[in-house]
Amino acid sequence: AEAVGQRPADIMKKLMESGQMLTLNQSMNLELAGLIAEELGVKVEVTAPKAGEELLEEAALWKGEEKPEPRPPVVTIMGHVDHGKTSLLDAIRQTKVAEQEAGGITQHIGAYSIELHGKRITFLDTPGHEAFTAMRARGAKVTDIVILVVAADDGVMPQTIEAINHATAANVPIIVAINKIDKPEANVERVKHALAEHNLISEAWGGQTIMVEVSAKKRQNLDLLLEMVLLQADVLELRADPRKPAKGTVIEARLDRGRGPVATVLVQEGTLKVGDAYVVGTYSGRVRALIPAAGGKLTEAGPSMAVGVVGLTGVPSAGDTFLVVKDERMAREIAESRAQKQRAAELAGPAKVSLDDLYARIKQGDIKELALVIKADVQGSSEALAVAIDKLPSEVVKLRVIHNGVGGITETDVLLAAASGAIVIGFNVRPEPKAAALAESERVDIRLYSVIYDAIADIKAAMEGLLEPTF
Ligand code: GDP
Repeated sequence: AEAVGQRPADIMKKLMESGQMLTLNQSMNLELAGLIAEELGVKVEVTAPKAGEELLEEAALWKGEEKPEPRPPVVTIMGHVDHGKTSLLDAIRQTKVAEQEAGGITQHIGAYSIELHGKRITFLDTPGHEAFTAMRARGAKVTDIVILVVAADDGVMPQTIEAINHATAANVPIIVAINKIDKPEANVERVKHALAEHNLISEAWGGQTIMVEVSAKKRQNLDLLLEMVLLQADVLELRADPRKPAKGTVIEARLDRGRGPVATVLVQEGTLKVGDAYVVGTYSGRVRALIPAAGGKLTEAGPSMAVGVVGLTGVPSAGDTFLVVKDERMAREIAESRAQKQRAAELAGPAKVSLDDLYARIKQGDIKELALVIKADVQGSSEALAVAIDKLPSEVVKLRVIHNGVGGITETDVLLAAASGAIVIGFNVRPEPKAAALAESERVDIRLYSVIYDAIADIKAAMEGLLEPTF
């Protein structure tokens, strides 16, 4: 905006018109910047990568041919505790990895790939929506498909509903695995009925959701489940260009006694090779070795593959972007510029959505929709709140309840809010101590009420710019 002498709001309007929803502190690539500038009657010429980190990072990427190829899906398993997430992950891993020539002792790196009919699927093996949403809160989108495990003898439980809400908030399609069908108490129909109440309607009933009846214990219908994952992946048309320099996300990272810092990187674009210069978080260096989950060593890893990367100069955080650049000097410069930016951001204070600055940000064109996470002491209150919110006028900003649950405000609620740019409304409940600390560090606005009218009045006032600031 500065360079072309326009107001940021006008640039954002142009972006929106072209279907790009970017906020003030998100970056655009050179191509998009060029297009928008052209619409404003300005011709853009890229000369030297000096104008800031975005330009630097963009210039650091080698220009690859834009010919994306199909890539394997990346799957996360979610569901209520004890419904069989770990058993299913283990069963799939054991039956399928045994069929491949196991390269050695299998490594637990936080993800593994299997092959079915010559097609690959990558599983992230930290199940649950907590890990999923924690990644999202850090801006990383890694999961293409969620397998929701529901035990046929237990049915839809609170964490099943949380998982549905978290996956839906992230816009990730769900495949349901109705597990434990070997048990005599299994009642598949009851599960389907309960899921339908949460908008997951089985294809057999004319709905859109794929449901597969499985037994992780008896290894029943596992291939069928995997085939459905591949089918869903085809529909999603997942693509990446393996010829580009690699870009990926850190799934987990640890300090290994022999190898030093090791990060599991999910490659999302391009091909990661031994010897590549990289930047991850505020660290930079060269890739020394790549360790796959199947054991042994690799010289390169393509799209949707997860590998342990050796040769790091520090332990990055899960959710950090891993970027391959031209050379080590460039990598160092980007890492330093990021460290500076990080320090600046820490000084800058609140950036996430809050009721206090809602009006200002609506006016800036920064916010079109306000997402809400509601927690209440009883089901009746949380529903009454959701209904009352639904009745509020929506011309200025659209209100959307992304999760509505009973009980204290948990860390997971805060992460969901952070990942979705939402605020948390608590009704007759308090945040758990850890959740309060997390809200502080993630800068999530938590509002506590004991009268429904007060909550509604505050939201309404915030939308109209009439909210009295609280300190
Ligand atoms: P998680 O908490 O969702 O990861 O659940 P686990 O995988 O730890 O499984 C919980 C319990 O259910 C364990 O005792 C498993 O042995 C059992 N279990 C998992 N899958 C099946 C199944 O298909 N059939 C039966 N009968 N038991 C299962």
